[in-house]
Amino acid sequence: MAHKITEECLSCGACEAECPNQAIHEGPERYVIDPVKCTECVGAWVDPKCAQVCGVGAPKPDPEYRETSRDLVAKWRKLNPNKPPKGLILEADPSKPVIVIVADGGTSDPVGQKQMEDIDTLVRQKFPGYDVYWGMQAAYAIRGLQMRGQNFYFERGIPMWSAEELLARLAEEGITKVAMQLLMVHESSFSAAAINAPRHGMNVKVSAPSFLSTPENRVDLIKALEPKFGDGKETATVLIGHGVLKNFELNDVFLEMDKYLREHYKNVYCGTLHGPPGTEQFVPAVKKSGCKKVRFISLMISTSEHISVDAMGDGPESWKSMVGLPAEVVDDFATNPPILDFFIKSIRKLLDEFS
Ligand code: SF4
Ligand code: SF4
Repeated sequence: MAHKITEECLSCGACEAECPNQAIHEGPERYVIDPVKCTECVGAWVDPKCAQVCGVGAPKPDPEYRETSRDLVAKWRKLNPNKPPKGLILEADPSKPVIVIVADGGTSDPVGQKQMEDIDTLVRQKFPGYDVYWGMQAAYAIRGLQMRGQNFYFERGIPMWSAEELLARLAEEGITKVAMQLLMVHESSFSAAAINAPRHGMNVKVSAPSFLSTPENRVDLIKALEPKFGDGKETATVLIGHGVLKNFELNDVFLEMDKYLREHYKNVYCGTLHGPPGTEQFVPAVKKSGCKKVRFISLMISTSEHISVDAMGDGPESWKSMVGLPAEVVDDFATNPPILDFFIKSIRKLLDEFS
């Protein structure tokens, strides 16, 4: 509902400049809001800005002006014809499930964010007519982005909410069906929080198997990456997994992966940045291999400094320094067609479960 300014107002004027619709102006007794122009900030921010900036809590929802979020989006478009609305904009047929992609979202690196944005574009191309939103689970990364003034992910402006918060907001908007697809390479506390998030009465179907969760998925993933492997004579290969620092048993998939690679390929290994297998197994193996260089292949969706610093940095603790060989990197996990295909097929299967 539109906001109104109540008698607590001290007429400081702070809210006037923040209103994206120029709906606030000075009145004879206090500042006032024009309800015809107030969209509750739908289209520009995820929450009413005047209420956020006011130090005395004067702006409050006005029960006389109740509008649906679809009405508010339409109002935003009328008031701002050249500015596509940002935020939670639900435009699909309400009988269709909302597609929710869950990722850690843990990168402030522009390249990593672009990789996720390209996936967003791909999903919306493959599933036209569906609303697509993201649950970003890495709160530390979101806080970092907010401190730098970023309020949304992607050019189209999706809110930086966790899956738990997104589900709550979707329920408030009257959504009844959600297809939740995890975009996770391996299980972690991030995926667990999304899988166990409260449903708020909605029918939420989840596709949680990660890229590494079953032996079949692991083999599919290895086959997708195989064309990038070095020859094993001149060039050794190390797949770079992120891994987890707690619940070490979640890293077993990387140990399995390393075992499979050693059994089926020459001088191809798997290492992790956090937890086992770490660097302990592949570093001596690469050193003994007789190879003249090493190729690192990312097993992460948004890689940021994990590749540029942890693997390829010049410091003594980088993977490149540890193996002591010239190194190169393949960082196309998020753009690798068979991997994207795996992900798209999983969403399609999920949507089929609703029909
Ligand atoms: S920020 Fe609060 S106190 Fe200041 S003018 Fe706006 S409503 Fe009044
Ligand atoms: S809720 Fe947003 S649009 Fe409405 S008056 Fe406040 S700042 Fe302006």
